Amino acid sequence: MMPLEVLEQAQAELPDWQHTGMSVAEVSHRSKEFVACADHTQELLRQILGIPDNYRVLFIQGGAFGQFAGVPLNLSKPGDTVDFVLTGQWGTKAFKEAKRFGLNPIAVTDEKASNYTTTPAQGTIQPTEGAAYLHYTPNETIGGVEFGYIPETGDVPLVADMSSTILSRPLDVSKFGVIYAGTQKNMGPAGMAVVIVRDDLLDRARLDTPSIWSYQLMAENNSMLNTPPTFSIYLLGKILEWVIAQGGLDGLAVRNRTKAETFYAFLDASDFYSNPVAHDSRSWMNIPFLMANADLNKQFVAQAEQAGLTNLAGHRSVGGMRASIYNAMPQAGVDALIEFMKEFERVHA
Ligand SMILES: *Cc1c(COP(=O)(O)O)cnc(C)c1O
Repeated sequence: MMPLEVLEQAQAELPDWQHTGMSVAEVSHRSKEFVACADHTQELLRQILGIPDNYRVLFIQGGAFGQFAGVPLNLSKPGDTVDFVLTGQWGTKAFKEAKRFGLNPIAVTDEKASNYTTTPAQGTIQPTEGAAYLHYTPNETIGGVEFGYIPETGDVPLVADMSSTILSRPLDVSKFGVIYAGTQKNMGPAGMAVVIVRDDLLDRARLDTPSIWSYQLMAENNSMLNTPPTFSIYLLGKILEWVIAQGGLDGLAVRNRTKAETFYAFLDASDFYSNPVAHDSRSWMNIPFLMANADLNKQFVAQAEQAGLTNLAGHRSVGGMRASIYNAMPQAGVDALIEFMKEFERVHA
């Protein structure tokens, strides 16, 4: 979901963007208008996240999955040990992808025993000595499992896939070596990843890293080594203006926390619905829920859709239902879902 006011603004500007007589999707990416637009987007992101000066912000195509390969190519050599903290499906996919690059990936923590409904206790993550980096997934989108803290990794650079949590609350960027996120959850349309990388990590790429994946080359070329995903960069800028209008990350954090707490309180008080995730590991963005009678799932999803409540089927790999309540979802959306669920329970309990 994206904020309606952003979509309407984009709609109004589409035929004639900034008096160019063209849409933003038609202008040259090297035009002064578009270069200014990309700079503006980057400046807003720096301001909102408080990104320190010794970090580069890159716009790279290929989404988060692209960075599952981009990170090992840029930060490791064949044979290097790299650490993974596994709390769900996306981290496990990143781990598998890293194996394609001749690495020795180690799962230093794997929450499989809880069926990925937990995060490791704070202070228990031990990076391997000499590891090229440690990778984790602060919010596992499918399982709805989110870290309540940032792991301490000492000299081992910390790498985070923040696709489904970035911009949901304030963040101390200085704790990280690399942060990356596909844009399609909280930052606009699909089509690219935002990569935030600390300067001292820019010169570690393998010689055979494709240029468009190279953090160094992308940093040197202000993410315009080749034609960037112009429409995604433009809309991200609009989303970021909206974030500022919501009171920035502090404002969004209050809203997001309230939305999540309302929904968890409803689930926890119910005998009909449940959420399987440990209380200290519950996501603010993605909330899976189950009914004791799974035969009702299809009916639930179909009737919800008729009531205008869409995208509630759980991920195909886990079943059940999942409410993704990203930044643009208002409290009213959560309240409407709860009302629907009460009525569904009344009829089917
Ligand atoms: C959605 C998601 C991905 C996949 O991103 P793509 O942009 O589709 O490649 C990866 N990691 C997390 C945590 C996600 O939520």
